[in-house]
Amino acid sequence: MAAVTSRIATAAALKPRHAMLSGWGRFPLSESDIYRPEKIAELQTLVTGNGLSLIARGAGRAYGDAAQNDQNRVADIQRLNRMLSFEPESALLRCEAGVTIAEIIDVFLPRGYFPPVTPGTRFVTLGGSIAADVHGKNHHRDSSLASHVTNFDLMLATGEILRCSREEHSDLFWATVGGMGLTGVIVEVELRLRPVESAYFNGELIRARNIDAAIEAFERTDSEYGYSVAWIDCAIGKNSLGRSVLNVGNFATLDTLPDNLAQDPFSVTPPIIPSVPFDLPGWTLNALTVKAFNAVYYMFHRDTRARTIFDWQSFFYPLDSIRSWNRIYGKRGFVQYQCVWPLAESRAGLIELLEAISRSRRASFLAVLKKFGAQEGMLSFPMPGYTLALDFPVNDTLLEFLDTLDAMVLKRGGRVYLAKDARMRPETFRAMYPNFPRWQQAKALADPDNRFSSSLSRRLAMDPA
Ligand SMILES: Cc1cc2nc3c(=O)[nH]c(=O)nc-3n(C[C@H](O)[C@H](O)[C@H](O)COP(=O)(O)OP(=O)(O)OC[C@H]3O[C@@H](n4cnc5c(N)ncnc54)[C@H](O)[C@@H]3O)c2cc1C
Repeated sequence: MAAVTSRIATAAALKPRHAMLSGWGRFPLSESDIYRPEKIAELQTLVTGNGLSLIARGAGRAYGDAAQNDQNRVADIQRLNRMLSFEPESALLRCEAGVTIAEIIDVFLPRGYFPPVTPGTRFVTLGGSIAADVHGKNHHRDSSLASHVTNFDLMLATGEILRCSREEHSDLFWATVGGMGLTGVIVEVELRLRPVESAYFNGELIRARNIDAAIEAFERTDSEYGYSVAWIDCAIGKNSLGRSVLNVGNFATLDTLPDNLAQDPFSVTPPIIPSVPFDLPGWTLNALTVKAFNAVYYMFHRDTRARTIFDWQSFFYPLDSIRSWNRIYGKRGFVQYQCVWPLAESRAGLIELLEAISRSRRASFLAVLKKFGAQEGMLSFPMPGYTLALDFPVNDTLLEFLDTLDAMVLKRGGRVYLAKDARMRPETFRAMYPNFPRWQQAKALADPDNRFSSSLSRRLAMDPA
């Protein structure tokens, strides 16, 4: 009887749902057969069967088309979400790749551990986070997620599973980290969590009157704080260009917490999470409303420097506090443009980009500045320097405008993040990612018939000709 039930379940998991998909930016849309395997054996059948190409999908939080495969197959791996083992001494956690950062926090924060690196949303899977080699607010200190991953198991197009680490199949390890799912499907991950004494942060909110003051504040607080981020008002130009509010902090140790928090250091009241119930009309966010919002946000932080205790939710995930916030950009969706410049070019690059945005009267509602440190993966996005992330609603002139930003970033040796991208041109991608030929060699060895392909890989001509 059990065998029959299991066969029925397998058949159901391997029966696709044909549907439209998008990334978090809701642009572009694509149509695919979507599978939801629950077991490794089901995934194996999926990977090795059928002539159409396949791409893995996690929680679909990449903004663009990385986890889409128009007119082909998508393997949603969110059901492969079992935690397998944990060693408290070494803080090594082994789990399936569909486990999310949110699930890790739920289980391990009350026990005194936190993910070593987290993006600005916790609703991402480990598989998706390794494939994009995500960074957090601590990249300048701790690099990206891959630095804390000891090994992962990768399912190749043949169905074979290879353990990849810095020692075993190391080229494949570094091609898969940041490789956007194109070398195979990550099925299991081992990573080292960070021991913490509380769920709180000791930090500061620092008001910076322009971009020079913001950079100065990052550099000044760099060695004191492991985590830093700035929210930039990019609706304002001239002498206030780049004015921002910096948020810096370290996990609080017990001896630094007030008594009421130290008594129960891991308990934080969960916030009430409102949601955007429907698509707002496209005009809701225009240059004027964005300007008004940013002015209020900046003025709200009156003090030039204010010491504060943050809880982990408000420090790491302010965007998670409004569910479905991607609907505020209306039905046509939006593009998140995230770029990075080498350190020596960052100031000039930031000024050039912010001036171009101000001239174009396309104020970005969200503009986030962070500092990056060293980086290893072949196609990983970060490099030592400053990174800026901006949201733009899609309209008839946006893509042309973003091409002009690409040219500005490229001429200074910078690059654009693939996990956010929905529109870059192939020649720009190649120029921005000089390790691409090395990545292609590793991809050709792991996937000689190019069975793993996506809307992003075809758009960027990453697939072999
Ligand atoms: C609000 C918000 C804030 C964000 N902040 C940050 C940030 O601060 N830093 C940052 O780096 N990123 C950030 N991101 C981007 C996000 O972290 C990445 O796009 C991440 O890859 C999303 O993970 P996912 O599970 O949703 O993967 P998906 O979006 O489903 O997939 C992303 C990529 O991973 C591949 N993939 C997924 N699962 C697997 C698997 N098991 N094996 C192989 N490949 C796989 C897919 O093929 C695709 O190429 C943010 C996104 C949002 C929506």
